[in-house]
Amino acid sequence: MTDHRSKARRMVETQIARRGVRDSHVLRAMAQAPRERFVDADMADLAYEDMPLPIGQGQTISQPYIVAAMIEAAGVRPGDRVLEVGAGSGYAAAVLGLIAKQVYAVERLETLAALARQRLAALGYRNVQVLTGDGARGLPDHAPFDAILVSAGAPSVPAALKQQLATGGRLVIPVGGHDGQRLKKIIRRTEDHYEEQDLEGVLFVPLVGVEPDAPDRP
Ligand code: SAH
Repeated sequence: MTDHRSKARRMVETQIARRGVRDSHVLRAMAQAPRERFVDADMADLAYEDMPLPIGQGQTISQPYIVAAMIEAAGVRPGDRVLEVGAGSGYAAAVLGLIAKQVYAVERLETLAALARQRLAALGYRNVQVLTGDGARGLPDHAPFDAILVSAGAPSVPAALKQQLATGGRLVIPVGGHDGQRLKKIIRRTEDHYEEQDLEGVLFVPLVGVEPDAPDRP
């Protein structure tokens, strides 16, 4: 355990702070969340390495740096209500849960959602709820959100997600196809005015969704 905690602290220093993430909420939460508990036991030794890891079903737990960079970009603060699309292992949702008031994480694959739910419950994350479904539609029943993070690459920004932002809310989403994805930040300034910022080049597994220009479900 102490071994994992010191690995987590070193990860924060060398992979995250050194690459420019400054937000103290993010740095603290990344040092605290037990990433080894969100991968298979036989991969626990690799949990704090600088890379994504397989979590089954052809999906991956994102590289630690990208989780930190996305949460910093989304400006998540204590008191926020947050939506994550693409819960996967539940790790990013756990990090969010250490900062925000309430986190809803949507995962389309029931096997992964069930495992994420189990892990989060075992660790006592009571403010993180994992739902099974198509996150491209958002969660209209729980909207509006102060921050929305999408952990899979979308062909375009789903309109439903923009609509479910609170005024002042931030959506962070990888957008693009085979020729590369860019991490975008969309801020809802007023009821009908959104500002878009281009952040950095990224590589995520695809978001499988219902938007007209999204690929069909398998
Ligand atoms: N944040 C995750 C990383 C998950 S990888 C973690 O910390 O482990 C992206 C996840 O998005 C995959 O599990 C994939 O099944 C899921 N996904 C893809 N399209 C989706 C959609 N439309 N709705 C919900 N989840 C989706």
